[in-house]
Amino acid sequence: MVESTGGSVPGRIGTPTFGVSLMLLAISSALLFFIVYAGISMNNAARNSQRDLISAALSDAVNRTLMEQKGIALWDESTRAAQGKIFNVNWFDEEVGAYFTEGYGHDQVYILDPSDRVIYGYAHGKHLDAAQFEEIRSKVGPMIAEVRSAKKRTYLERDRLFGLNQQRYSRLQGARSARWAANILSGPEGPVIVSIMTIVPTVDTSLLLPRPYLMVSVVKIDQAMMDLIGRSIKIGAIRLDPANVTDSQAVPLVSDEGEVAAMMSWTSPKPGQLLLTRILPIFAVLLIVAAFYTMMIFRRLNEAYAKLRDQEASARFMAMHDGLSQLPNRRNFIQTLRTRLSLLARENSSNRIAIAYVDVDRFKDVNDAIGHGAGDSLIIQIGPRLKDLLRPRDMLARLGGDEFAVMREIVPGEDPAKLGETIMAAFKRPFDVGNQQIEVTASVGIAVAASGEADPDRVVQDADISLYRAKDLGRNRYALFEASMAEEVRSRHEIETDLRAAIGTSQIQMYYQPVISVRTGQVTSVEALVRWKHPKKGLIEPGRFISLAEQGGLMVPLGDHILEQVFREAHRFANVDIAINLSPVQLRQRHLPDRLDQLARLFSVDPRRIVLEVTESMLIDADGATERSFEDIRKLGFRMALDDFGTGYSSLGYLHRFEFSKIKIDRSFVSSGSLERLRPIIEAIVHIGRGLRMDIVAEGVESAAELAMIQALGCTEAQGYWISRPLPLEDILAFISTPRSGGPKRQPLQVARG
Ligand code: C2E
Ligand code: CA
Ligand code: CA
Repeated sequence: MVESTGGSVPGRIGTPTFGVSLMLLAISSALLFFIVYAGISMNNAARNSQRDLISAALSDAVNRTLMEQKGIALWDESTRAAQGKIFNVNWFDEEVGAYFTEGYGHDQVYILDPSDRVIYGYAHGKHLDAAQFEEIRSKVGPMIAEVRSAKKRTYLERDRLFGLNQQRYSRLQGARSARWAANILSGPEGPVIVSIMTIVPTVDTSLLLPRPYLMVSVVKIDQAMMDLIGRSIKIGAIRLDPANVTDSQAVPLVSDEGEVAAMMSWTSPKPGQLLLTRILPIFAVLLIVAAFYTMMIFRRLNEAYAKLRDQEASARFMAMHDGLSQLPNRRNFIQTLRTRLSLLARENSSNRIAIAYVDVDRFKDVNDAIGHGAGDSLIIQIGPRLKDLLRPRDMLARLGGDEFAVMREIVPGEDPAKLGETIMAAFKRPFDVGNQQIEVTASVGIAVAASGEADPDRVVQDADISLYRAKDLGRNRYALFEASMAEEVRSRHEIETDLRAAIGTSQIQMYYQPVISVRTGQVTSVEALVRWKHPKKGLIEPGRFISLAEQGGLMVPLGDHILEQVFREAHRFANVDIAINLSPVQLRQRHLPDRLDQLARLFSVDPRRIVLEVTESMLIDADGATERSFEDIRKLGFRMALDDFGTGYSSLGYLHRFEFSKIKIDRSFVSSGSLERLRPIIEAIVHIGRGLRMDIVAEGVESAAELAMIQALGCTEAQGYWISRPLPLEDILAFISTPRSGGPKRQPLQVARG
């Protein structure tokens, strides 16, 4: 893979909404949980407070029992009765047994003597024996112990309220020594209130015993009592069930010795129910909807984000790549070059960067000839072709149009020319374009960045200059940058600027070179050749500025200036024809035939006296429009000559197709060295030309021998220094009118005549 940059895209666009959504979800869940918690808590709190009320009501019942007991137990009479020598059962039945059971609804009443023996027991109209008491003695024992001593309470202190009431005694001395204990215990048949009180005198303290008699009351906590409690604390019916009943709604009634004595159930209000049954479902639905929407929004956002990211990635790719070839573009190339150069400079590396500018030769012709689609297809194919031959670390870019560029890091001593050869190799095979195979060549300019060079501009410019040179040298080659090239470019640039200013002024002059008839030695025509009299540089030959004008877009105005000047001076030449050179650029101008016609009329020049010289290369490029131009020009009466024949394709087909009236054999054929060798070719040209009734002009005749030779070969006309160099107007006119006599240049003419 050839390197390309700008691939990965960091996530620059964040999703703050994701965090927000998560937070919202967490808050909502917490709220949901809170509602459930609050609902349940409210219900529980309500139930707990009712349970506390029940418990308090039970304590009240305990205190009430004590209050009831107190009426008899703290009394001189009962003390005497209990401590008397004779135990008066009747008295006890009336004042104790019946009094408590029938008056207050106590269930059992006992009297214990100082040694805690049961001396009296009563329940609902009958006496109880001691055995009955023994059933509960074990549980009551701790209470008795408390009453008898100042020992700390074993059971819960239920009788605080009663105790507070008892502190009021001031006159009732005996009552002050009273002691008691009251608790809720779990009896064999369920919970009971057990209340124990000393039997002490209120007034006659002489009756006080160190260990007094005790009165014990047992009150069952039954359904009736619970009904009463329920009504008094306004919570409705409290159902009392045996301890073994299991009901999730039931609350245990725990006796003071810590046993579950019974189960209580009641219908408690549920203030949290509104939250749980109404608000919770609504909220849950809202939450689900919100979560759904959040999810949707999140998904959409995610999609949008992904899309944006893709767009960004492709935008970045497009910004750094060429759409047609998918190769890195100019900007990418320059950026990478800058990065690599500064990296090498920083690392003090002895490696260097070579860059090659590649330009497809005559790409415009490919486009014109087989269409832009085919041109594009060619561009697309060139990329992989080059990549295949390049190194993995080389960078290949398309700079635009038919220009490519390659970047290669070279090690010390490595020849950058190798890169040129590699690139040339890519164009060795023809390309398949639009059902046909076309041969394409390329010109390559290579430059190497000086070590330590960090600025890409210089090396890019150098590569451009060497590319220019490669094209100048005839294309299909590579050129390595040399310092002198830069100087040359500079001076070319200078010439171009000066030439622009010179066009239309007298700096541009026409010289004329005579062409003679080989047979008569007479001047038959002159060839107009342009000269530039530069104010500082002196006389500049067309070889130095014509191609420059062509490349710099100056050929059209320059060519027009030349045409005008020649037509203006044409009347000075009485009987000789005038040849004018046409640049391909001029020939492509649509209005050239009109312009020629216009000039001929303006300066009263017979078009038949004008010969327009064109080169073969122009014919290769010629399209339909050019061919029509040719025809129009010929129809106006102008004649055409094929110039520099033999240097290009030398296709004889053109001779016929464009109806030339003259062939000018290039001077390279005539020059002494090659004449012998090329003889058969010249003979063939002459033969064909004559067949087509064309004049055959031999250019560059520099010696008598050459003249003799071309004469022998059958050329009809000759031109060259041997006859005369190109001369300014006045001199050529003098040359034409001067009868031939003496001088080295005239001599061959005499030979010719002879
Ligand atoms: P060309 O059309 O082949 O012109 C003939 C060139 O050969 C002239 O060079 C001429 O001076 C030179 N020459 C003539 N006899 C000899 C000889 O015996 N030996 C040698 N070595 N050279 C000889 P010049 O005037 O420097 O022109 C060079 C080329 O510039 C021309 O080649 C032509 O292509 C172009 N050129 C000259 N004038 C114009 C013009 O007015 N318009 C256009 N478009 N091109 C022109
Ligand atoms: Ca010529
Ligand atoms: Ca020529």
